[in-house]
Amino acid sequence: MVYTSLQSLQNRDYDYELNIAHLYGNLLNTYGDNGNILMMKYVGEKLGVKMTFDIVSIGDDFDNNHYDMVFFGGGQDYEQSIVARDLPSKRQAIDQFIQSDKVILAICGGFQLLGQYYIQANGVKIDGIGVMGHYTLNQENNRYIGDIKIYNEEFNETYYGFENHQGRTFLSDDEKPLGKVVYGNGNNKEDDSEGIHYKNVYGSYFHGPILSRNANLAYRLVTTALRNKYGQDLNLPSYEAILSHEVPEEYGDVKSKAEFEK
Ligand code: GLN
Repeated sequence: MVYTSLQSLQNRDYDYELNIAHLYGNLLNTYGDNGNILMMKYVGEKLGVKMTFDIVSIGDDFDNNHYDMVFFGGGQDYEQSIVARDLPSKRQAIDQFIQSDKVILAICGGFQLLGQYYIQANGVKIDGIGVMGHYTLNQENNRYIGDIKIYNEEFNETYYGFENHQGRTFLSDDEKPLGKVVYGNGNNKEDDSEGIHYKNVYGSYFHGPILSRNANLAYRLVTTALRNKYGQDLNLPSYEAILSHEVPEEYGDVKSKAEFEK
């Protein structure tokens, strides 16, 4: 049964409203991926949006007209294999959602399952729903674990995260990476790519959660969803106006976060 797990306070005035489907949110939450929805809510509310998050899980219909955004987190192989059995029932609705340029954030296991297939650590192949071209191979007795930094040239943005995955993902020709690896492993340690950007689907191996560490990406996702719904020329406050903050002077010589993470 679909149920609301998080919602903006009711007794306030909002200019907009966004409905977000949290796919399999009761099963997939590696390293606090669910923190991504807290960050979406925070950014949305700063922009005057009433945010509502529903868990859409095993046996539930995914109503692609009702939702403006999707968050699909990561998981261990066991949980992932269970999700993979249910996912084909939502394939058509997810495909239409992607083709109509709606926003998806898919992390790790979620990112893998939108693609063609995923080979588990034990060598067993599980099918993805194939709504996107990438595929994921396994590796023997190894995982890519550690801090990672990537750069997205198109947006001129840098993203930071923590990766922990055994899968090695390879993108198809029509898929761009979310960024180029500056340090860390990325999708497969071979081609310097990390994550995916296809239409308005953003995928990544970043836990941490990705949006809490990268408010610039959170802003991009929420504003894209708002403009999809309310018109491309919608006038919204800039990222700087609502999310960037200077270190207070009384903190002395503490560096800004961007300086610190260089
Ligand atoms: N089970 C997958 C892998 O190991 C995804 C892991 C994750 O979501 N962190 O590659």
